[in-house]
Amino acid sequence: MRLLDGKHTSQQLRNEIREEVKKFVEKGNRRPHLAAILVGNNGASVTYVNAKIKACEEVGFASSLIRLSDTISQAELIAEVEKLNADESIDGFIVQLPLPDQIREHKVIMAIDPKKDVDGFHPQNLGRIALNMHAFVPATPAGIVELLDRYNIETGGKHCVVLGRSHIVGLPMSILMSRNGYPGNSTVTICHSHTQNLPEIVHSADIIIAAVGRPNFVTADMVKEGVVVVDVGITRVVDTTKKSGYRLVGDVEFDTVSKKAAFITPVPGGVGPMTIASLLKNTMIAARRRKV
Ligand code: NAP
Repeated sequence: MRLLDGKHTSQQLRNEIREEVKKFVEKGNRRPHLAAILVGNNGASVTYVNAKIKACEEVGFASSLIRLSDTISQAELIAEVEKLNADESIDGFIVQLPLPDQIREHKVIMAIDPKKDVDGFHPQNLGRIALNMHAFVPATPAGIVELLDRYNIETGGKHCVVLGRSHIVGLPMSILMSRNGYPGNSTVTICHSHTQNLPEIVHSADIIIAAVGRPNFVTADMVKEGVVVVDVGITRVVDTTKKSGYRLVGDVEFDTVSKKAAFITPVPGGVGPMTIASLLKNTMIAARRRKV
């Protein structure tokens, strides 16, 4: 078994982006600038946004964090999005999800200028991905594709089983793995909560991409020898032996599945760090397109 080491690979990617920023600025361009809107104080969201801002600093991007109250109305939030759309100094921005109940997420996402949608959540970006056109690929699927690419994982003609069909992970991942290119050209099966015979389907997979959000959902008896496993799941599980009081658990039972797998991502240290690095890469692309 070989680890698909997201920590190491994401650091490589960040180093490359840092070099790219240096050259970009030396040529007289302004620094790429990522903004993030954070609504409320959800603990996980605060952690994720802070990690994104820190990553921006590390590669030499400018960053802005716009914190808004969780009582904000949908119209007020959309007005903030429109301000960022119009702000020439910002190349790309994200609205950290989830949003409070009074706000319909898709209304906010639809308000984002697709050219600044570095999270790749706007339908225009998803549509472009489906048509194999240039697009901002959502950061988690983009990170997975980068990881498969850097480890030269063979995907053509392979059976790839994607567990989960969310708009941010499972669905774009299934499109990317089935499209004509590399990584891609896989025969893809996408599973969800209505799927019957899920263990049998997973057993026939050459590549498994697990994004269901259920700790240890994929067990060794469900996988065949030599499988490539990408574990997207991150669930906080209570652990009193940890200072934080919890530990992060993936969708795949790592200890047993890793004995049969050819390649596998750890949790943490797999897909998570690749996601942030891919957001930086998307922002760099946005800055190049908007070069002033
Ligand atoms: P989500 O929106 O909750 O979607 C979960 C998907 O799993 C749904 O399609 C659901 O099916 C399916 N599912 C749930 N239980 C199932 C079951 N028993 N059998 C088959 N399918 C089942 O989650 P998400 O946003 O895609 O995230 C998935 C996991 O990835 C979470 O743990 C999340 O924290 C993690 N994540 C990690 C990163 C990262 O950077 N590493 C980024 C994003 C997400 P239905 O559609 O039928 O309900």
